Amino acid sequence: MAANGERVAIGIDLGTTYSCVAVWRNDQVEVIVNDQGNRTTPSYVSFTQNQRMIGDAALNNASTNPINSVFDAKRLIGRKFSDPMVQSDKKLWPFKVIADDNDKPIIVVNHNHKEKRFPAEAISSMVLEKMREISEAYLGSKVKDAVITVPAYFNESQRQATKDAGAIAGLNVMRIINEPSAAAIAYGVDMKACIRGRRNVFIFDLGGGTLDVSLLTFEMEDIQVKTIAGDTHLGGEDFDNRMVDYFVKEFQRKNKMDIRGDPRALRRLRFACEKAKRTLSCNTLATIELDFLYQGIDFYSSITRAKFEELNKDYFQKCMELVEKCVIDSKMDKSNIHDVVLVGGSSRIPKVRQLLMDFFGRKDLCNRINPDEAVAHGAAVHASILSGEFSEKVQSLLLREVTPLSLGLEKHGGIMETIIPRNTMIPTTMDHVFTTHFHNQTNILIHVYEGERQTTRHNNLLGKFVLEIPPYPRGVPQIKVCFQIDEEGILHVSVKEKSNRINMKVTIINDKGRLSRAEIERMVRENEKNKAEDERYKKKVEAKNALENYAYNMRNAINDEDISSKLSLEDKQKINDAIDLVLKWLGINDAAEQDDFERYSKDLSKAFDPIMLKMIKDLSPTDNDVTPSTVGNDKMKRWLQILAKHTLQAVYSTLTGDIIGFVCTVIGDILP
Ligand code: ADP
Ligand code: MG
Repeated sequence: MAANGERVAIGIDLGTTYSCVAVWRNDQVEVIVNDQGNRTTPSYVSFTQNQRMIGDAALNNASTNPINSVFDAKRLIGRKFSDPMVQSDKKLWPFKVIADDNDKPIIVVNHNHKEKRFPAEAISSMVLEKMREISEAYLGSKVKDAVITVPAYFNESQRQATKDAGAIAGLNVMRIINEPSAAAIAYGVDMKACIRGRRNVFIFDLGGGTLDVSLLTFEMEDIQVKTIAGDTHLGGEDFDNRMVDYFVKEFQRKNKMDIRGDPRALRRLRFACEKAKRTLSCNTLATIELDFLYQGIDFYSSITRAKFEELNKDYFQKCMELVEKCVIDSKMDKSNIHDVVLVGGSSRIPKVRQLLMDFFGRKDLCNRINPDEAVAHGAAVHASILSGEFSEKVQSLLLREVTPLSLGLEKHGGIMETIIPRNTMIPTTMDHVFTTHFHNQTNILIHVYEGERQTTRHNNLLGKFVLEIPPYPRGVPQIKVCFQIDEEGILHVSVKEKSNRINMKVTIINDKGRLSRAEIERMVRENEKNKAEDERYKKKVEAKNALENYAYNMRNAINDEDISSKLSLEDKQKINDAIDLVLKWLGINDAAEQDDFERYSKDLSKAFDPIMLKMIKDLSPTDNDVTPSTVGNDKMKRWLQILAKHTLQAVYSTLTGDIIGFVCTVIGDILP
């Protein structure tokens, strides 16, 4: 429960393109709307010369400021810069990505007139921070605990990096869970009353950047993941890119010009394509209308659903291959699958739905839960279970996951020795015993890999360990390497000599670009600094707004006939000069700070207050103190009405002492 002061745990779906946050409250899931009233928030962060924007504001800013608007951090997280995927994505991003000394990708932007560098974790942490703020505003209490979801196919380093992003955002990441499993939990809660006996359910999650498929069985409260498959680089953005390429070529054909060198034009075209793609999910034709797209040339065109499907044929085919792989791995006949659940915005594409219905031989697919919200939904349920909240509806739900990739060691000759095969139910512990190759060997280098290929060079290196051992004849030491995967799918490796004769020291040489504790702490501090800067900027904008409002209200007041007729020319001139000075200063001093605006506001009231006070007193029948008895005075009433209409704010902020109390009562009495 989220009563003020109580600790509440949230579920965050940190998406490639959109994120969603939900909470379990009053015996049900509540998806939390953001400050714009939207139920999902763009995973965008945009930097300008004086502020940092996250979410909807950042997305809106992206077409005018493309090189400093960052998105797709999830496509970078836990990857190396030299990763072919990063290299090909980099060509499409308008923002700059470079490598650090450890081959870690670093995003470079210009913020506050300075070059700033961020790893993907820092950008994701800003999105997480935003999701936290959204929930705090909604719940009216501080939020710390969260369950964050990741694609089931995320590898070890991507999971760790996501956890680090949570830590930078100041969250206590209770658990990282797989997106399709979270969707399955949502399905389980929704269908609880209908599930009788064993039910096999296929979850198809096609989002902006990833495809995740899972086959699960539901039995009573037990949700067991059987198999998973997916692609961490297949989703809506890929479909958008195909459409962008198509229109870039069309523009080139029509105008003999290539717009690819212009990030703003490309960004505008990409937005239009994404919109057209959504239109094609319900219409068979979509139009693109972009005025002055490139060098003053307008671009008007259209695309049919058939053309869109043709452009993405291979991607859709790839989706189906992964669906098939998941079903084959489970050794289950597809006719035994009771439900196919659609998750992710791209699962709305009619062709994708058609292919799924054809494959499973069904006439219907399950879309009982909003595909944009299902993952956050399940994450919120899981968060409430982990925080020990009691609810009959969810209390006994038990989720059992499997490993997405095989984990193993490198054998002699670069061969992969699998220790934990993929699709093994977790948590799990498995080990492998090996020995030395040479006489008197004093250290052994152990390489830990993940992946399905026979040769390690095609798999993903997770880390290296050096074992220091005393010299023994070849083949004598019995070294046991133990792989333990915890509930979150995170791997812990330990090494022991079977007979305990050898005392071994394990050193981690390469942690694959993961942020160190010190780096995370530094980023937490930086994040606090950024937050303080955002706050300072907000206050400054508010102060500027208040000053501008004050000046215009004042001008309206003295231009009003009733008031104007009571002011001397000299007084009017004095006030007008003060207003002109402020408005002129506002026009040229964009970089001013909160204090400056407040100072000018005081100057303005210095000119305005005495004149206004004098007027009030002049109106008073007794000509000295203004007393409540003057309420009956029609002239006074009329004047106050005008004052209330035009300068309510000015009155509040300029009049002091007893008079303000009196004026407020009068205004309160005469306002409708
Ligand atoms: P992620 O979790 O990867 O951020 P989402 O599940 O939020 O992704 O889905 C976002 C993707 O879905 C975007 O690429 C968006 O263009 C796409 N999308 C949303 N609605 C539709 C629709 N009606 N038709 C086709 N694609 C859609
Ligand atoms: Mg998603």
